[in-house]
Amino acid sequence: MARTVVLDFDGVIHSYTSGWQGVTVIPDPPVAGIKEAIVDIRKFYKVAVVSTRCFQEGGLEAVKAWLAKHNIIVDEVLAHKPPAIVYIDDRALTFDGNPQKLLHKIKTFRTWQQR
Ligand SMILES: [Mg+2]
Repeated sequence: MARTVVLDFDGVIHSYTSGWQGVTVIPDPPVAGIKEAIVDIRKFYKVAVVSTRCFQEGGLEAVKAWLAKHNIIVDEVLAHKPPAIVYIDDRALTFDGNPQKLLHKIKTFRTWQQR
């Protein structure tokens, strides 16, 4: 069975340029090129999309409908992170084994859209 790659939804697949508008409101287009990237990733890995939207009423359905509307095919949409070989998230830091630098990295963190 193929190993899993997890992709965050907002800010990685959904471009999220309008910011938070509500659980079921997904107003923006896909990040440019993400659909093609997911097609390539799925040649080697299972792709799971994880969003905190899926915890709330209508959120899972809204994410699935948006993906379908944009013809983006994934293997699953989940509320919780499953075991995976890598997690792709616009709000993640890669832990490098150096806890001393964490607070500084947190304080200076910017998403790709904020840079
Ligand atoms: Mg995000």
